[in-house]
Amino acid sequence: MEVAKTDNVGHFIGNKFFEVDEKNSVQVLDPRNNRVICLASNATREEVENAVEVAGKAFREWSITPAEKRAEILFSIGREIEKDTENLARIESVNTGIPISQCRGQVKRAAENFYFFAEMATKISGRVYPREPDFLNYTERMPAGVAALITPWNTPLMLETWKIAPCLAAGDTCILKPAEWTPISAKRLAELIAKTDLPDGVFNVVHGIGEQAGSYLVSSRGVKLVSFTGETATGKEIMKNGSSTLKRFSMELGGKNAAIIFEDADLEAALDSVVFMAFSLNGERCTSNSRVLIQCSIYEKFIEMLLDRVSRIRVGDPLEESTELGPLVRKEHLERVLSYVQSGVKEGAKLLYGGKEHESLKPGNYMHPTLFKDVTQDMRIAREEIFGPVLVAEKFDREVDAVDKANDVCYGLAGYIWTRDLRRAHLVASKLEVGMVWINSHNVRDLRTPFGGMKNSGIGREGGEYSFDFYTELKTVHLALRQQRVPRFGVSG
Ligand code: NAD
Repeated sequence: MEVAKTDNVGHFIGNKFFEVDEKNSVQVLDPRNNRVICLASNATREEVENAVEVAGKAFREWSITPAEKRAEILFSIGREIEKDTENLARIESVNTGIPISQCRGQVKRAAENFYFFAEMATKISGRVYPREPDFLNYTERMPAGVAALITPWNTPLMLETWKIAPCLAAGDTCILKPAEWTPISAKRLAELIAKTDLPDGVFNVVHGIGEQAGSYLVSSRGVKLVSFTGETATGKEIMKNGSSTLKRFSMELGGKNAAIIFEDADLEAALDSVVFMAFSLNGERCTSNSRVLIQCSIYEKFIEMLLDRVSRIRVGDPLEESTELGPLVRKEHLERVLSYVQSGVKEGAKLLYGGKEHESLKPGNYMHPTLFKDVTQDMRIAREEIFGPVLVAEKFDREVDAVDKANDVCYGLAGYIWTRDLRRAHLVASKLEVGMVWINSHNVRDLRTPFGGMKNSGIGREGGEYSFDFYTELKTVHLALRQQRVPRFGVSG
């Protein structure tokens, strides 16, 4: 295995790359061996405020730049990303541990995010209300200001572009704060964006530890919007810290999503989907079906099918084309995932496969794909987000039990239903307390549709035109078409 080494990762502010102050920096590690790849900056409050000021100045021009021009620039960013696919995929794979074959798909989506929102930029529109004789009432969508975009370490590039593209399309400017464990692809993205005609200061990146760099951003007066993706606990902290400066928040948080497999389902198709959605992206996926609820009559059969497939998942170096499951992002995360395995065993779930580190691949953060059966709703592994390659199987009897179990968690991001009975599929879909449901499908996203969760999985929706509910201000204009009779004050005193 080659040793990954790369240049240090400094801030990108006003189209300038800054040197890393080694005394105030974060080590970025290669999850294949936990060696240091490079150092990343850890922003001070002054550096964050400088970025906010630069973004604020850039907003004056960018917010009045014609939509066609914004679209043209967004297209060019998409093209730069697409041209750099192999390089970006490699960077992402080495920093996150996600297999390269899956990282290519993520880069493709990153480019698509820019193409899609380039088109949307020219379609941002208001409404005209049916004309009354006296008034013309209409709404306009205005750029909102400077946005802080705070992102997690799983699929960094894809999630960053998912926020940057609609933000710039709306005419806002931004400061991206990537996760401190995985900052490298954001640096490459900045290099690619610097090649385009995007005006200086419209897109900025500050790096650093969330509780410092991130929280300076959240409390900065110059920041109007905070779009956050990450853990629910962090989301709550951010909302608290942003309240005194009255920020607008978009919160995309954790999940504990269930796939419900009814006895009449196409079991082979359900199997492909459940295994893919539990173990792709190393199981570090907010929309993962980390729980599978199986109807009693097919329980043992489907468990056997799962076991056969899970035991044959290829674990290895993420740069190998054939690898399906790579190392988890950091040692401490691996330990957290393994502690959930121990808790499952202690609480009486049956560990069918995996549950331990991959000894022959040490010192990398590799673990075996893991399958539990006979899990019950009182167990932590049934209720808490593990965010790793661990699939837990539960049994259910009737439709209503499946719905109750699926809803019996604090999260509400996504749900998957497998049945050939369309009536049942619709009824169950409408009863699930989640933001998104896929019927007889894995997670296939149509970029026009809203993305987001209920309950502890988030607040608000992004995606398609819904992104502009967040990234723009809605203004109502009332135009009098006739002389108005106004009650006359101060005429008879
Ligand atoms: P995290 O909450 O630890 O960190 C996310 C980001 O927030 C990082 O950039 C971090 O530096 C920053 N941060 C941390 N504390 C902060 C603070 N006090 N103020 C400002 N910023 C702060 O999340 P993570 O561990 O990086 O990511 C995993 C989580 O993300 C999982 O819970 C997963 O479900 C969730 N996620 C959700 C979605 C979704 O769309 N719903 C998508 C992907 C990941």
